[in-house]
Amino acid sequence: MYAAIAAARHGASVILLDKSLIGRGGATVMAQMTVAAAIGQQEPDDWTIHLADTLQAGRGLCNEELSALLCREGPKRILEMEQWGTRWARENGHIKQETAPGHSRRRCCYVDFLNTGPAVAATLRRKVGEISEIRRISNVTIIELVTKDDRALGAVGVNLNDGEIVTFQAKAVILAAGGLTKLYARNSASANMGGEAYALALWAGAELVDMEFVQFFPIGHLAPRLVGMDPIMWDPFRYKLGGKLLNGHFEEFVDRYGGTDFGQYTATRDVASYSILKEVEAGCGTPHGGAYLDFRHIPEIQLRTAFGPVIDRLLLNGIDLAKTPVEVGPMAHYHMGGVRVNSDMETAVNGLYAAGEAVGGAHGANRLSGNAITEAFVFGERAGTHAADNIKKTKVNWQSKLVEAAVERLKALRARRSKRDVTAAALQAELQNLMWEKAGPFRTGEKLAAALARIQQIQKDELSNVSVTDETSYNLDLQEWFELRAMLTTAAAVVRSALARNESRGAHQREDFPDTDPGFLKNQVLKREGDVARWTAPLKIG
Ligand SMILES: Cc1cc2nc3c(=O)[nH]c(=O)nc-3n(C[C@H](O)[C@H](O)[C@H](O)COP(=O)(O)OP(=O)(O)OC[C@H]3O[C@@H](n4cnc5c(N)ncnc54)[C@H](O)[C@@H]3O)c2cc1C
Repeated sequence: MYAAIAAARHGASVILLDKSLIGRGGATVMAQMTVAAAIGQQEPDDWTIHLADTLQAGRGLCNEELSALLCREGPKRILEMEQWGTRWARENGHIKQETAPGHSRRRCCYVDFLNTGPAVAATLRRKVGEISEIRRISNVTIIELVTKDDRALGAVGVNLNDGEIVTFQAKAVILAAGGLTKLYARNSASANMGGEAYALALWAGAELVDMEFVQFFPIGHLAPRLVGMDPIMWDPFRYKLGGKLLNGHFEEFVDRYGGTDFGQYTATRDVASYSILKEVEAGCGTPHGGAYLDFRHIPEIQLRTAFGPVIDRLLLNGIDLAKTPVEVGPMAHYHMGGVRVNSDMETAVNGLYAAGEAVGGAHGANRLSGNAITEAFVFGERAGTHAADNIKKTKVNWQSKLVEAAVERLKALRARRSKRDVTAAALQAELQNLMWEKAGPFRTGEKLAAALARIQQIQKDELSNVSVTDETSYNLDLQEWFELRAMLTTAAAVVRSALARNESRGAHQREDFPDTDPGFLKNQVLKREGDVARWTAPLKIG
């Protein structure tokens, strides 16, 4: 949405489309916590300090040019969002900012602890709605990008409402289709985060970078059922109030794995994840396969003072923190890798841009909390601006034969009646379990090789055999088939990259290579599906 607004204000005529309703389908609307930017309203801060924190978290692998853009332009975007109507929480006339792990200053803005993502999404939806140069199209899934001679010319999609094939001619294309955490059985994702941006980019001839770096959040919510709340909401509770992590026998355990937790929030994310998963492996997990997070030792008044409205919302979900512990465990939450872009957000394909979580490189091997929404704002604004400038000097030679192959493929798929009973949804579930078990928070070469073999087998033998009904309206079978196709390509890119990185660094933890190896202080670039990656030195500034 930010990209569309920026492109329109630089003179472009824009089609903004989404496979669900515009601005309601991805991660942004789910994010309930904070947005990091060095606006320095709570205490003195500077974008260079934010950059130093971001680079430190990235374990040497950040594309420093992208990280610097994120930190330098973040403040402008936060203030612009306020002008457009986002009501950042304020105190004594200034925007309130909190700290979060890894940030050396209080720089994380929020609306309140329930509404940050919904509020920024609403602001952008409203702003988009005011701009006549932006045409909005919901419920169209993009299944292929159209390119010729390394130039993006448009896209092919399927309209969920009537099953019709839709082709789009465009002088430039911006991929802002979010992350990939739906590849994992345990995730904090929306239904639309199957990594389609990465597959679309790869098929179009763009490059992917550092696909092995999937961020796993150690204390994602597992049980009891939580409706309408952020599954990764427990972090601020822990660092403000010091919830205890207990195993299935209600014993503290993190100290057995090198952490010193004991009611404090001191264990790092990787130690917390590791110790929870090891307790589960040893048969000491909770009923839903995680650990208990317990706040019963904290007086109710203290809980309420810190998180009043959140406590009420939890009560509506039947969760009374003063009386009941919740179950938590590691889950896939964010993707640091992604589409490789330059500082204009342009990919290796002319006229093809990327923005938001789809972009790889700004966070290296690990992302600081609050940096992802800032990234979506900053990279969106840049992608829109540069795409609009690019098309001023572009003459595009659209030929309908460019989309014929995609259209024929789609027709053939719809006409086919499979003899087999396997559905795309069933294979998606199998893929999610496979990724969780073999390419999850703790990996080995053996498990990764097994994952890759199974992914390739599904691609080769089973994908073309999946049953797809020929219904026209709301044919979810068809949508799931295209999702599955993209998920397999993206999953293979993650696994292949994880296999090649024989070390542990940031979010990529290999049990067979537990140390960080200075020889791997380099980025991995994938050019074509199935190709071996090439390694490059991380881009440094100054
Ligand atoms: C539960 C949760 C909490 C989070 N909390 C925070 C936080 O507090 N602070 C922070 O900084 N970050 C947070 N993050 C991360 C952050 O929200 C995301 O990185 C960011 O919002 C991504 O924005 P985006 O615009 O790139 O993608 P999204 O907001 O995910 O939007 C992508 C859009 O692309 C559409 N799409 C996907 N595939 C296709 C296709 N093939 N065709 C057409 N449309 C398609 C989707 O429907 C979706 O609407 C959180 C993430 C989650 C999941």
